[in-house]
Amino acid sequence: MIEPESGAHNDTTHFGFKEVPTAEKVRLVGEVFTSVASKYDVMNDVMSAGMHRLWKRYFLQIAEVSVGAHCLDLAGGTGDISKMLANAVGSDGRVVLSDINAAMLSSGRDRMLNEAPFGRLEFAQINAEAIPFKSKSFDLVTIAFGLRNVTDKLRALQEMRRVCKLGGRVMVLEFSELRVDALKPLYDWYSFKVLPRMGKLIANDSESYQYLAESIRKHPNQAALKELMEQAGLERVSVHNLLGGMVAIHSGYSV
Ligand code: SAM
Repeated sequence: MIEPESGAHNDTTHFGFKEVPTAEKVRLVGEVFTSVASKYDVMNDVMSAGMHRLWKRYFLQIAEVSVGAHCLDLAGGTGDISKMLANAVGSDGRVVLSDINAAMLSSGRDRMLNEAPFGRLEFAQINAEAIPFKSKSFDLVTIAFGLRNVTDKLRALQEMRRVCKLGGRVMVLEFSELRVDALKPLYDWYSFKVLPRMGKLIANDSESYQYLAESIRKHPNQAALKELMEQAGLERVSVHNLLGGMVAIHSGYSV
């Protein structure tokens, strides 16, 4: 059983390395993303040297989404995953780009206004812990680099499973535990020394990028997230590590 980190039924929970009242976390995470929204895309490219695009493309490749499929992208932010999904499902499909944060959604909308799949996207401001769609509505439910920020991860995964059709898939793309010991010192230096400075330079916000590094370390590792997905009722949960586990893709079926 995964307890302290995932369930968030306690009075306090973590926000990065800080312990905060559980009820406060949504607001604190909201402040982070409202602060970085306008610089979110450029920061992603700089921080990952463009690699986030490859991770997202690989995620979509594994998703094997069919033409005409109905997809829900949670914590979709500025819409990278939704845009790829909209291209894959075509005009007979459905893609809902959702996020809890209005500033992130509006940055995404502004960026995509002139791009082809824009007209096919539905936008929704949604907390992943309480998804306002009927059960069994979607063939695929995704959350990319979002679950880490959700207070009650088990509840979010249960909700994802609930809105997934039988035989449909829940997929999580997230930072995870680096498996290559020799790289850990370098990764820690980059995370805790370089990232906050980049955040300061580009987004005038070092704290949000300090939170990013800390939240990655607090997120359940590959095995713990797999267990959590199984606890949420998902079956045949598989894990793909990218970059030695720095990033992982978890996928499970609703049956
Ligand atoms: N999926 C996008 C991507 O991969 O570029 C955005 C990821 S961004 C790092 C994390 C997103 O999670 C933010 O847009 C934030 O607002 C959203 N988020 C945080 N908590 C959430 C929650 N409880 N429900 C839905 N979205 C949430």
